[in-house]
Amino acid sequence: MMKYADVKEVFAEIPDEITLAISVTGCPVRCPGCHSQYLWADTGQDLAPDALAQLVRDHRGITCLCLMGGDQDPQGVSQLLQAVRTQFPRLHTAWYSGRGELPHGIILANFDYIKLGPWQEECGPLNQPTTNQRLYRIQADGQMLDITHRFWKKTL
Ligand code: SF4
Repeated sequence: MMKYADVKEVFAEIPDEITLAISVTGCPVRCPGCHSQYLWADTGQDLAPDALAQLVRDHRGITCLCLMGGDQDPQGVSQLLQAVRTQFPRLHTAWYSGRGELPHGIILANFDYIKLGPWQEECGPLNQPTTNQRLYRIQADGQMLDITHRFWKKTL
């Protein structure tokens, strides 16, 4: 079972959403220069569906739930978010993956947003136009719309 280290409400990770971000441990990606190496070990509290539902109930006012990590078990991420969708149909769901490509075996209908891409120091974070990472909005027809530009400051 996946585990998580911490939970916090964030505003910048998904545009226009009040997001409950859950940091999943056991990250297998091992990006050079990772700023979150405490997430590499398989430690923390169990991320069972009922525990996840309780976290949602404890954070009234959120509009989105985002699993930060979980690349060791993408199908597990998909199933957890499917359970969230069933219990909280108005809540948006998101996944921050460190993979470069969408993994096989996940059901896109379980996601409203997916971030893909490992941390690459020379490319910078999502809010830099040079970033290698991409945030996609999953459309009703299953298309993945690249909305990464929403992180970039508008210049006149
Ligand atoms: S995916 Fe995130 S937590 Fe995992 S190694 Fe890369 S930067 Fe670190």
